[in-house]
Amino acid sequence: MTSTALTGIGLLVTHDPEFGELRDAALIIDEDRIAWIGQPADVPAADDATDLDGRCVIPGFVDSHTHLVFAGDRAPEFEARMAGQPYTAGGIQSTVAATRAASDDELTAHAATLLAEMLASGTTTTEIKTGYGLSTVDEQRSAQVAARLSDDVTFLGAHVVPPEYADRPEDYVALVTGPMLDACAPHCRWIDVFCDRGAFDADQVRAILTAGAARGLGLRVHANQLAHGPGVQLAVELGAASADHCTHLSDADVQALAGSATVATLLPGAEFSTRSPYPDARLLLDAGVTVALATDCNPGSSYTSNMAFCIALAVREMGMTPAEALWAASAGGARALRRDDVGVIAVGARADLVALRAPSPVHLAYRPGVPLVEATWKDGQPISARL
Ligand SMILES: [Zn+2]
Repeated sequence: MTSTALTGIGLLVTHDPEFGELRDAALIIDEDRIAWIGQPADVPAADDATDLDGRCVIPGFVDSHTHLVFAGDRAPEFEARMAGQPYTAGGIQSTVAATRAASDDELTAHAATLLAEMLASGTTTTEIKTGYGLSTVDEQRSAQVAARLSDDVTFLGAHVVPPEYADRPEDYVALVTGPMLDACAPHCRWIDVFCDRGAFDADQVRAILTAGAARGLGLRVHANQLAHGPGVQLAVELGAASADHCTHLSDADVQALAGSATVATLLPGAEFSTRSPYPDARLLLDAGVTVALATDCNPGSSYTSNMAFCIALAVREMGMTPAEALWAASAGGARALRRDDVGVIAVGARADLVALRAPSPVHLAYRPGVPLVEATWKDGQPISARL
């Protein structure tokens, strides 16, 4: 057994109702868990001690929506879009071609590089989707790669209809709900579907999610990103853990979310990178909807891995307070993954922590683009320490 005392915490943001925010705090990490939280004068004995010299400590970020398994990039497409071309779901096809051509080792190395980038910027839990294979063998490979790197792997065979099925999308749905699901389900915890203009319609979404649920997978939906549509209400009706994007919502969509356990996961990096209107987080929060923030890290519509950037966007563009944005980026993400062991600093929770070179987490939005994450602990291990 190895325990570490973190002392000299200027401000500890726990997201735990028992402790809330503590000034001049200390905590004990025991193996991979948090064992004690309190005042420095009361700190129990530990094997090691680290003095954080007044730094702010927050829960590690929980990025509940990423697409890390892919090859290639789409910088020219981004450049063209910034010059005025619109974003459509079809651009995914170029990443599908590159991903299919890449080896397992190449896909793993690339995803691991992105994951390391995320850890260094304070993200300690990352959901990873498949969805750039779109054949049984390539989706299975993607799921296996993701499962090496995350406990929260999502089967997204229904990302778009691949070109070889363009004239017979129902055959593709049959593949996704049949052999492809069989091949991927053993490696996955979740199933997701892109319900939008240019992707899958309501009947297809229902068939795909129902098949996934029958295999024991939890449900997630890419919903209402590009236009109004049935995605959010289907997510609520089918008991999905999360409806993601939620950019174009009707009053009925908001009410459905508010009366449900489905989290609205907002992905402002996508609106930033596609120069689109942001979702109205204030409206959702005021209606009582549980909101999460995630990066949507992917090469087409949101190639950021940085949760602090998403927090800054949420505060500046979406009407969230800094405290709401931080909660959404950690505890909210945990809710979206139906996990209670992350996103919170609480006795018994995973010791996933971030020390900021700042007196408070307000600085994450107040100082956008500045690398304030000075140290990250994941499962009690210091991952990236610049202290
Ligand atoms: Zn996505």
